[in-house]
Amino acid sequence: MSGTAGGDPRALRRQLRAYIARARENERKLNRLQDFELKLVSSAGLDRLLELILAVYPRNTGLDQAALVLFDPDDEWRHYLAESGRPVPAGLHLRRGEPASLPREPWLGTCGDGAPPLVREALAGPCASAALLPLRREDRTLGALVLASRDPARYPAGSGSAFLERLAAFVAVSLENALNHERVKRLGLLDPLTGAYNRRYFEQRLAEECRRSARTGQPLSCLFLDLDHFKRINDTRGHAAGDAVLRAAAATIRGQLRDSDVLARYGGEEFVVLLVDTGTALAGEIAERIRRAVAASPVSLDRDPPVAVTLSAGVATAAGDAARDAEGLLRRADAALYRAKAAGRDRVAVAGVP
Ligand code: GH3
Ligand code: MG
Ligand code: MG
Repeated sequence: MSGTAGGDPRALRRQLRAYIARARENERKLNRLQDFELKLVSSAGLDRLLELILAVYPRNTGLDQAALVLFDPDDEWRHYLAESGRPVPAGLHLRRGEPASLPREPWLGTCGDGAPPLVREALAGPCASAALLPLRREDRTLGALVLASRDPARYPAGSGSAFLERLAAFVAVSLENALNHERVKRLGLLDPLTGAYNRRYFEQRLAEECRRSARTGQPLSCLFLDLDHFKRINDTRGHAAGDAVLRAAAATIRGQLRDSDVLARYGGEEFVVLLVDTGTALAGEIAERIRRAVAASPVSLDRDPPVAVTLSAGVATAAGDAARDAEGLLRRADAALYRAKAAGRDRVAVAGVP
């Protein structure tokens, strides 16, 4: 779409139409990418993540092939994949180290002899043009994503790659998250029912964050959450329904938190949240948001009508010297929760400054 239309109104109109078509196409591409990114970052587990990258993405975008090369110097990926018990998906390659020839920026071009060796190594099927996207997180290279098409014009050499860079950034973050998740699981620090951290992890993390807050003076808030009349749900709908409610509640709570916040299942139907660098006012708002979200999300069960769920929350904050007392912070959040229960449940109570 280079060249100018001069003064010819018809040519001008034609050019304008071409620009609009291009803008629409880009918008469609971006929307598709956003949908996919959302799926990536919210994908549950390594298997689903790999399926999204290797099967769903090529299918949705009309690609002929996608391949993922993961650098696996310590056999970590190999181990987690073996543990899942499923066969290694087609298109996934594990390599001991990063090849010297991996470009720093995305490479686009035709699949001939001039293509980086990794492109030819990773692809099994026919390829006329391809994109090689390094997957980086800060200073580490996790691997590379290779996208291939039978259409030589799909990935023309030297063309813009903003979409692809963005895709690569999301894939890299999602892979790193999946790896961290597997590591934590391996250490026995996750609650198997809800996928939240367990109490053992929470206690370690609470001590650590309290030390940090005492050092930096940044406030640290703790939420103590307890589902209301949960016993009734178990009694009237059965234990399996109770379990489904616990899983759904954990997911709803997680959905209201930032990545840096820590959600743990403290016991039966009790959850705790650590909000780093968060003062009382914001912590109270977040607790209220969680309360509203849970109350607004009845849990669907297979055949039976959905179960309405509410929770009560206690909020406590510490900063500076007060943060030295980790147990005190948790105790104050628990005491505030007790007040929320006593005041009628489905509400938030905030502890005063110690
Ligand atoms: P309150 O509003 O005062 O919090 O009432 P509650 O019924 O929620 O509190 P209570 O502590 O009396 O009951 C908690 C129940 O949670 C009792 C226990 O059987 C159930 N529970 C604990 N762990 C699990 C679990 O893993 N799965 C299921 N389904 N139920 C659990
Ligand atoms: Mg309880
Ligand atoms: Mg309860």
